[in-house]
Amino acid sequence: MERGAGMNDKHRDEILKEAVDEYGVILQVDICIEEMAELTKALLKMRRHKENNPLYMQDHKLYLNLHKNILEEIADVQIMLDQMRIVYGFTLEVENSKIDRLKTRLERDKKLIKDMERDAQHGKY
Ligand SMILES: [Mg+2]
Repeated sequence: MERGAGMNDKHRDEILKEAVDEYGVILQVDICIEEMAELTKALLKMRRHKENNPLYMQDHKLYLNLHKNILEEIADVQIMLDQMRIVYGFTLEVENSKIDRLKTRLERDKKLIKDMERDAQHGKY
């Protein structure tokens, strides 16, 4: 997983811990909520731009700005999520079990689609 490119993870974690200690949990939770809202807004702006302007790819400058904004907001949210892990605990085990569940669901759905396509070829739908 690409994280904190160019910065070793220990240094990164130390800075994040320092931020939590210095500013406190209440403020960092508020900032996390704010950053999540900013990412939501950036994603919606891109979606609105695509939906309302079918030629959006031609407005390359606007597209690049929206894309850059999304990357910045993802980075902001990731930094705050890493601080939330420092506050509330690490999530690797939970993430792994959720990814396992997702993998099972994907396999089930792919099989389902394959079966439906096979049935459709045999005129069942
Ligand atoms: Mg932000």
